[in-house]
Amino acid sequence: MMIYFLSEEAPFRDAISRSSASYVMVNIYGRRVALAWPDEMAPRPVKGGTFMSIRRPYVLSSRDFKPDDTVVDVGGVSVGPGKLTVAAGPCSVEDGDELLELGVSLRRAGADMLRGGAFKPRTSPYSFLGLGEEGLRALARAREELGLPVVSEVLDAASLPLYKDIDLMQVGTRNAQNFPLLQALGDLNKPVLLKRGMSNTVEEWLAASEYVLSRGNGSVVLCERGIRAPGTPTRFSLDVGAIPKVRRLSHLPICADPSHSAGDRDLVEPLALAAVAAGANMLLVEVHPHPETALSDGDQQITPDAFALMMKKARALWELVNRTEVKERDELEGRVRNRLRKDVGGGRTGRAGPVELVAGKEGGGISFSPRGRGHRAIARA
Ligand code: PEP
Ligand code: MN
Repeated sequence: MMIYFLSEEAPFRDAISRSSASYVMVNIYGRRVALAWPDEMAPRPVKGGTFMSIRRPYVLSSRDFKPDDTVVDVGGVSVGPGKLTVAAGPCSVEDGDELLELGVSLRRAGADMLRGGAFKPRTSPYSFLGLGEEGLRALARAREELGLPVVSEVLDAASLPLYKDIDLMQVGTRNAQNFPLLQALGDLNKPVLLKRGMSNTVEEWLAASEYVLSRGNGSVVLCERGIRAPGTPTRFSLDVGAIPKVRRLSHLPICADPSHSAGDRDLVEPLALAAVAAGANMLLVEVHPHPETALSDGDQQITPDAFALMMKKARALWELVNRTEVKERDELEGRVRNRLRKDVGGGRTGRAGPVELVAGKEGGGISFSPRGRGHRAIARA
């Protein structure tokens, strides 16, 4: 993949039209860039621009492209560094009045957003599939009355117009690689909460985010919700290590879902705290006023009281992890990032990496060009 930073577009358009490469022009994070692939066919330095070759399946989500953390705005609530953002609510919206009443206690306990599934992707078609449009209307009413942004899962591109009053578009684990849906969300001017596919690697998850980013929508929050692992005592195994790993590789904020990974309400709080300790920027938690009669995921939904207690601990832990010795931590994070750059450039280990700084020839100024060819070596970085 070649990425071009162009001060003039005409020479690039001319060069690309004479090549057989595929390409896309993207406006993202206040920059206009061109992406072209495969590398072998993409034009080499073009007049009036610099270029970089990245031999891994994600580019725009990587810190090579954007070193500073992205803050995603969800209806006036920010998700990113500097705070812990919490979305809470029932697995499925079951009743409008009950949702509103629950929302009042969640807001009192410190929730920043209200979650609720309206169209539910259930494993069996004979399970409760959600209230559909009525559920979305109940969320819109709660949003209006509570003043909280709302998050709900979208199952297909055709339903997107129904989500006009939904602030954060959730893509569930079962749709994490539904590429046409991700592209349609990329064309929509709304933030996206992209769950990790239950058997996806971190690299596949970041590559999925590119389907949204490469359409110009940079407002993506990644959500670790647990993966399938043999012998795990939980419903899914919360991949705690993926949280700092993703923060190192990507500038996108990361959320953790302790509910679907736990599958058991007694394990929700410890997993939520583990995720906060690991550096999560956001939590997505299922809360139900009467979990024992919930129409979906009753075993893992916690009560409003349990949520209030969890919030106290999570906020205190976040302070401990993020506010202690802020200066030293920032310096250390800077060093970690610099080391990552050296690693991917092959400098420290001597291994072939995806990018190497070289002086641009035809284009003038500094360009990047490929160093190694091995995809595996790059995946290791
Ligand atoms: C949900 O959050 O309601 C949900 C269905 O989650 P997941 O896609 O992680 O299973
Ligand atoms: Mn659920």
